[in-house]
Amino acid sequence: MSLQWISGKIVKRQVWSEGLFTISVETLGVAPFEPGQFLQVGLSLPEKHLHRPYSVASPHGELLDFFIVRVDGGELTPRLWNLAVGDSIDVSAKATGGFTLSHTPEANSIWLIGTGTGLAPYIAMLRDGAIWDRYRRIVLVHGVRHCSDLAYHDELQQYKDEYPDRFCFISAVSRDAGKGCLSGRITTALENGSLEQLAETTVAPNESAVMMCGNPDMLNDLEAILQNRGMTKHKLKTPGHYVVERYW
Ligand SMILES: Cc1cc2nc3c(=O)[nH]c(=O)nc-3n(C[C@H](O)[C@H](O)[C@H](O)COP(=O)(O)OP(=O)(O)OC[C@H]3O[C@@H](n4cnc5c(N)ncnc54)[C@H](O)[C@@H]3O)c2cc1C
Repeated sequence: MSLQWISGKIVKRQVWSEGLFTISVETLGVAPFEPGQFLQVGLSLPEKHLHRPYSVASPHGELLDFFIVRVDGGELTPRLWNLAVGDSIDVSAKATGGFTLSHTPEANSIWLIGTGTGLAPYIAMLRDGAIWDRYRRIVLVHGVRHCSDLAYHDELQQYKDEYPDRFCFISAVSRDAGKGCLSGRITTALENGSLEQLAETTVAPNESAVMMCGNPDMLNDLEAILQNRGMTKHKLKTPGHYVVERYW
């Protein structure tokens, strides 16, 4: 099925670290979508239309944020990185995807686990607000390689200040030692208990729902850990405990 494209304009470009950035695109006519869904973002080249899916890092509105990492040797992201405020960009008219709260089981607490730009859907959910009505406790875990990749830290701290007893965010940095951060991988910290200790809640079938997004190795390892704990992937017909968004 061919995609319908809407032209947008970049009105803001925020660089978090070299190659890691958020663009805010002003665009009219994108159909209402749920936080966690993705749009196609692309450029019209002389030879073809080049596009890829990106989670929208903001709720539905006239301004849409995309949190992107430049992939070395990638076809689209080096071009997106080189765009400036005022440049045009295409977005698809309709978002898709089931990585949303309405496809996530109810529970006492929700774990939002993401690596790198896998944080994007959670930023949209936190800004939208419905998540606060659905879960009593929210634990966001952001895994990155270097401290300089800890984007959105100030915004997350604001939620922490606003909901001190209900919101907890934990940064796991695998290649640097960061002040106030867990050192190492998210999956190691879950297995050795340090993640749950910091969050002051458990990842367990009768307590939690889990959303996971990002790097495929982390997703595979995390799924295996959850399955060992008796947790299963949530599907409409066979309710379970966790949902997954794979970026590649
Ligand atoms: C549902 C969905 C949502 C997505 N949302 C986002 C998002 O919010 N932000 C974002 O940055 N990307 C996101 N992606 C990934 C994005 O669609 C592209 O794959 C990515 O930007 C690379 O595009 P490219 O043309 O530069 O690379 P390509 O030329 O297409 O090369 C692709 C290869 O690059 C590698 N790759 C892809 N993504 C990454 C990555 N993040 N880090 C390291 N290697 C990677 C993989 O090996 C992949 O095979 C999402 C993907 C999916 C399926």
